[in-house]
Amino acid sequence: MIGIIFGPPGSGKGTQAARLEKDLGIHHLSTGDILRGEVAKGTPLGKEVGRIMAAGDLVPDGLIVDVVRSRLPDAEQGVGALLDGFPRTVAQARALDSMLSDEGHRVNFIVALDVPEELLVDRLLHRAQVEGRTDDTREVIAERMREYHKLTEAVLDHYRKQGVRIHEVDGTGSPDEVFDRIHAAISGISSR
Ligand code: AMP
Repeated sequence: MIGIIFGPPGSGKGTQAARLEKDLGIHHLSTGDILRGEVAKGTPLGKEVGRIMAAGDLVPDGLIVDVVRSRLPDAEQGVGALLDGFPRTVAQARALDSMLSDEGHRVNFIVALDVPEELLVDRLLHRAQVEGRTDDTREVIAERMREYHKLTEAVLDHYRKQGVRIHEVDGTGSPDEVFDRIHAAISGISSR
């Protein structure tokens, strides 16, 4: 089973994906977490992407596709994988589709979190204080939102056209409330 948790920056993808990992046993694969780990370790990849991330821009497609290609086989073991922060462009989605079809797999479902933009900015500014993420300043947040609208929203259309089931979920309210809505939306998914 391959799922994608989709939504703008600050919509709660990481929080909800971590809970779904616990609940469904599905492996949470977050490209943002992987890249932040590389930056923290000071690896060559981390050095290459650190400045791009700090500016709120997307790292090049080829680079992130290689990261996912190397991690996906492990993540696909067991119940499957829930992708968080990937794919973020249509080119990444196409690369993912071909990686999966090589294994006889495909994207089975998408949970798309819907949160109004004003609330997203408040959440991200709050997260900057709590977690100290350097890409959560007001200016960088604006850039990340622009990238989302310009490049990432189209990913949903890409999968809609393929007939992939997209569960649109209201992402406002507490993490518990959002989790309950996601749970209700996708219950029984593994038998589909
Ligand atoms: P996230 O934690 O998913 O918000 O990702 C943080 C940052 O990592 C993004 O603003 C991008 O700079 C980079 N990043 C993560 N995933 C991707 C991706 N799929 N494509 C391009 N850049 C990414």
